[in-house]
Order: sequence, then structure tokens, then C-alpha cells
Amino acid sequence: MKTALFSSKSYDSEYFSVANTAFDHDITFFETRLKSRTADLAEGYDAVCVFVNDVIDRETIAKLKEHGVKIIALRSAGFNHVDLAAADEYDIKLVRVPAYSPQSIAEHALALILTLNRKTHKAYNRVRDGNFSLERLTGFNVGGRTVGVIGTGKIGSVFARIMLGLGCHVLAYDKYVNKELADTGVEYVSLDKLLAGSDIISLHCPLTPETAYLINRQTLSMMKPGVMLINTSRGALINTNDIIESLKKEHVGSLGIDVYEQEEKLFFRDRSHEILQDDQIARLMTFPNVLITAHQAFFTREALEQIAVTTLQNLKDFEEGKELVNEVRLSDLQ
Ligand code: NAD
Repeated sequence: MKTALFSSKSYDSEYFSVANTAFDHDITFFETRLKSRTADLAEGYDAVCVFVNDVIDRETIAKLKEHGVKIIALRSAGFNHVDLAAADEYDIKLVRVPAYSPQSIAEHALALILTLNRKTHKAYNRVRDGNFSLERLTGFNVGGRTVGVIGTGKIGSVFARIMLGLGCHVLAYDKYVNKELADTGVEYVSLDKLLAGSDIISLHCPLTPETAYLINRQTLSMMKPGVMLINTSRGALINTNDIIESLKKEHVGSLGIDVYEQEEKLFFRDRSHEILQDDQIARLMTFPNVLITAHQAFFTREALEQIAVTTLQNLKDFEEGKELVNEVRLSDLQ
């Protein structure tokens, strides 16, 4: 299938080219992001393949339709960046990679917790600089602590099991109870109880109208002083202004984020030579107890292989008129 792959990085072309030997799609790799201004590049392609920070709004979708694109293949699980109503209206199919490697994201959440807690990122730099002091590197034992998991789907349930393995008491909040997980010792509670009772809170629910700004001034005020908050899900689950206020008041003890509300203007590019225009992330970067990674939780070899294979299979199924098992429909939002 003639496919325009947008937001292409070296690892995309590497993993897709290897996986494509079994599919033989005709893929062109574009480094640019897909948005309405770049959608003309898709002229003459049957499919576009996009990542989390491509802008798949109504305007982009209208242009894709005009250019004959029939299907949008997401290289991600999340689809909050797509105007589903517009895709439905213009009759463009949408497919995604619902699960590639829940371990990759869950393990990155753990990496953020342990790094923030034991300050290994600071210790590494200190020692390289000949500074062998332990001053201000004190952490706490994670085993025995209470960890709150919001969203116990594929990633949240792997994360919950990891934390159980570390000897934590795990509280969970989800719209649906995962019975199998509850049987392992995870305690399902109300959101209020989870917020009030957790030493560490990790977000693993999708970004929907219901979960946008789930973490805000009010929910932050319900958390224990000194709480560690981890977000590997989507940036807009947290109200950035409110978390900055809470960090300044020293209510939130530490924050680890792999996703950021305004990340589409920043992430996945080397901007080290530019003047940073985003004052909120600049402020977050000044806190010694904030750790930011640039949406890399998914970034393992296993996940990249799985993303490529599933995406190429999704396109093949469409080409052959088969059932689209990974289709995203408008009803998925409702
Ligand atoms: P999933 O669909 O398997 O699980 C999501 C869970 O959240 C479900 O159990 C669902 O019931 C629950 N949920 C939905 N609305 C809720 C609400 N209002 N309150 C509480 N729980 C709610 O998804 P997943 O595969 O576990 O992925 C979770 C999220 O992780 C994705 O939506 C995506 O945003 C993010 N993600 C991030 C990366 C990364 O690299 N940082 C990679 C993949 C996925």
C-alpha cells in the first residue's frame, strides 16, 4: 500500500524497513509532522502513518480526503490527537496499535520513581565532577509504601504488579475493576481514597474529556504532603499551572513526567540551540524535584518492533478488505 509515514525518525525508518520486508508496502518516510500545512505531501498516497504529535484535526483530515487518502494508521495506542468526528464524516478509516509493550511504559514509570527518589541522575553528575558527597541525596524505601494507580488497563496493571513485587501496598482507581488484578492483592478504592492515601501516584488512564486535568488544584490538595506524582500517560491529565503552584508550595514532593501538556511543540527534536519559548516547561525544569523525559516511555526495541509489525498488518488488512481489528471508531470516545 502506498503509504506516507510522517514524523519519521531514524528508528522509525530502521524498524519499519526491516518489518516491511514481510509486507512489501510502498513507504515514503517524511521527517515533517503531519498537520494541515504539510498534508499536501500526502497527495497520491492511500495511507498516512502518524505518531502522537502529528495534528490530525478537521482541517488536516479534509485535506487528506481531498488527496485520496483512505486510511490513517497511528503508530500509537492513544488517539486523543485525532478528530474522530471528522475522520468519520470524511469516511477515512483510523487504525492504531492498541498494545505494543505495556512493560516498556510501566518500567519507565518505575525508572522515574527510582531516579527521583534515589537521585541517581544527580549522583551520576556529581561523581563525574569529582564530588563524592552524599549531602541532599537521601531517598526513601519504596517497599512498604502505598502506591496509587489511576487506570488499570494494559499498562497500569503491569505497573501495579511491578509495585506489588517491590513490596508496596497498591491502591487502584478505574472505571472498571480488573478482577484478576484485584486477586493479586491490588485494592480498588474511590479516587478520593487513592489520592488521600498514596505516597506515590502514577497515571495510566487515557486522555479523554473526562480525564483532562484530572490532576488539578482541587485533586492536588487532597494528596498527602510530599506525594510523588508520575505521569507517563498524556500531558493534559495534569493542569500544568496547578502542579507548578503545588510544587512551589512544597505540597507535591516530586514529579516525574514523560508527557507534557504542550509537548507537540517541543518533543522529539533537538532544541538545545534554541531559545525556549515555553515558560511553563522552563519553570518545571528549574525544580530540583522534577524529572522530565521527552515521551520515551515506549522506547524499547520490543515496542518498536511491535509498533512496526502491527501498523503494517493494519494496512495490509485494509488493503485486502479484511476486518480491521485495531480500528478506532467515533463510538470509542462515547
Ligand atoms: P488501556 O486502554 O489498556 O487502559 C486504560 C485504562 O484506563 C482502562 O482500564 C480504562 O478503564 C481506564 N480509564 C478510562 N477512563 C478512566 C477514568 N475516567 N478514570 C479512571 N480510569 C479510566 O490503555 P493502556 O494501553 O494501558 O495505555 C494507557 C495510556 O498510556 C494511553 O491512553 C496512552 O495515553 C499512554 N501511553 C503512553 C506512552 C508513552 O510512551 N509515554 C505509550 C503508550 C501509551
